[in-house]
Amino acid sequence: MTPGPVAASASRLPVAGNAVVRRAARDLLRRDRRAVVLAVVLHAAAAVAGLGAPWLLGMIVDEVTAGAGAGRLDRLALGIVGCVVAQGLLSRYAQYVGHRFGERAVARLREEFVRRTLALPVSVVERAGTGDLATRSSVDVNLVGTTVRDAVPVVVISTAKLMLLFGAVCLLHPILGLVALAGLPSIFVVARWYLRRARDAYLFEGAAAAELTETLTSTAEGARTIEALHLADQRIAHGTGRIARLWAARRATLRLRSVVFAVAGASYALPVAAVLLVGGPLLDRDVVSLGEVVAAALYLQQAIDPLDALLMWTEQTQRGMASFARVLGVGLVPPEPRGGAGVPSGRGVTLRGVRFGYGDGPDVLHGIDLEIRPGERLAVVGPSGAGKSTLARLIAGIDRPRSGVVLLGGRPVTDLDPAQRRREVVLVTQEHHVFMGTLRDNLAFAAPEATDEQMRAALVAVGADWYADLPHGLDTELGDGARELNPADAQQLALARIVLADPHTLILDEATAALDPTTARRTERALGAVLAGRTVIAIAHRLNTAHDADRVAVLDDGRITELGSHAELLAAGGAYAALWRSWHG
Ligand code: ADP
Repeated sequence: MTPGPVAASASRLPVAGNAVVRRAARDLLRRDRRAVVLAVVLHAAAAVAGLGAPWLLGMIVDEVTAGAGAGRLDRLALGIVGCVVAQGLLSRYAQYVGHRFGERAVARLREEFVRRTLALPVSVVERAGTGDLATRSSVDVNLVGTTVRDAVPVVVISTAKLMLLFGAVCLLHPILGLVALAGLPSIFVVARWYLRRARDAYLFEGAAAAELTETLTSTAEGARTIEALHLADQRIAHGTGRIARLWAARRATLRLRSVVFAVAGASYALPVAAVLLVGGPLLDRDVVSLGEVVAAALYLQQAIDPLDALLMWTEQTQRGMASFARVLGVGLVPPEPRGGAGVPSGRGVTLRGVRFGYGDGPDVLHGIDLEIRPGERLAVVGPSGAGKSTLARLIAGIDRPRSGVVLLGGRPVTDLDPAQRRREVVLVTQEHHVFMGTLRDNLAFAAPEATDEQMRAALVAVGADWYADLPHGLDTELGDGARELNPADAQQLALARIVLADPHTLILDEATAALDPTTARRTERALGAVLAGRTVIAIAHRLNTAHDADRVAVLDDGRITELGSHAELLAAGGAYAALWRSWHG
């Protein structure tokens, strides 16, 4: 039984189909055609040299039987040595060429994978979970690497060797050739049985491994929460379930291997046995010479290794193909829609009848209508779970509304070219990642063409005075193992990026909520410099943010219940007024 479906579900990243994988594999070979051809030619030459020794040995047997002199036998023996040396040298060089090709192909594959991963829309990565992506970028890319580097050359060489060896037996005597070929079908039958089942089984195994990684990483990341809420037993049960699935998947592939290797192992000796068995009576009737039977038996003995290698590496190639399908699947995610790049879309933000829910879940926003004027500051307040962060994600274009539309300067924000969208609207959250690399690298993400002067000015604008103390200025290495920034400094770095990116609309979601009060005040001062002249939508966790805003929108259970200036809402005496009064004691 082949375990479960392997096709991409709505939340998983897709897996490429057979045709796509075949085309990509052909592409990989075609892009380095010279090396591939050279490796194949060298391997073929090595295999031809390998045919010489049994042939000459067969001749020695016949010469000895005919009572030839020592001189002739010595020359034949010397020929054998020559063949062995030539084979060794040729196959060594062939392997060298093959490995260099493999390394180049893997390097290209990795670069391509990184490019595709970075092009994935944020919402797709969030839905799929980082475990799947992590498994594809590590386990799967590595497996494809080993396959290209080791398996493909072996499969090509073994096939060539087998054709030559069986061809040579046919040349010795056609009857011997036919007898040898008769030993092969059982291997083909079992190989076919195996290959039909292998792809799905290995794809399922890959998916199960990804699920386990996902479970383990999310458990490790949420360790504190799990401890606080006493969820350990639940997480262990969840993890155990995933391990059981992976175990079942591994057992399924192991079962395939155990059948295929057992049957094939017994079948390898069949051609040799058949030739010896039939060779005796043929020798008696003088149809073949003793030398020919010896040479044929030696050739078929030589064929055992390539047969074994072919089967073993065919299975590795199958696993590699399954991994390749998962790696290529990342490129099948539809890219974010591309609008007319470079056309400024204006500055106002308009929401019309916006409804949204996560996955297949219920709506969490129920028809939001909102007009935010260019340069306006709007604070969004409301209880936890009201949908404030969701609203922020929709305005930033990370998620697409189920119905209704979010317009940025009159154009749907999700239709904008991603690069252009990032120049126009930026969502600032608590996540302020410092990437490994120099301070300059960290700033250049936002504005690759920014000069050093502009970078320094941006740091000064957000009050990042710590910059002056860095030993190598903009070239100081940041991140793990190098200079680590404290949360407030990292937040300022994130704000400096915004100054450089210079978007006309900013959405602040919990930008300062998790910082201690002193740090938060510092950051808020820095923020002041960043906000000047931009349209700002602030998810307000402290009511003083709302007090300073031009207008306040109260969001409750996915609906805007009040909208107006601080003074107007106080005068209206609704939910906001009650909140404000309770906050002021
Ligand atoms: P707020 O920011 O006001 O606290 P959110 O926008 O975070 O509210 O959440 C609104 C609703 O959407 C909540 O019911 C929450 O459980 C749900 N929600 C938020 N994020 C997700 C998600 N990634 N997947 C599913 N549901 C979510």
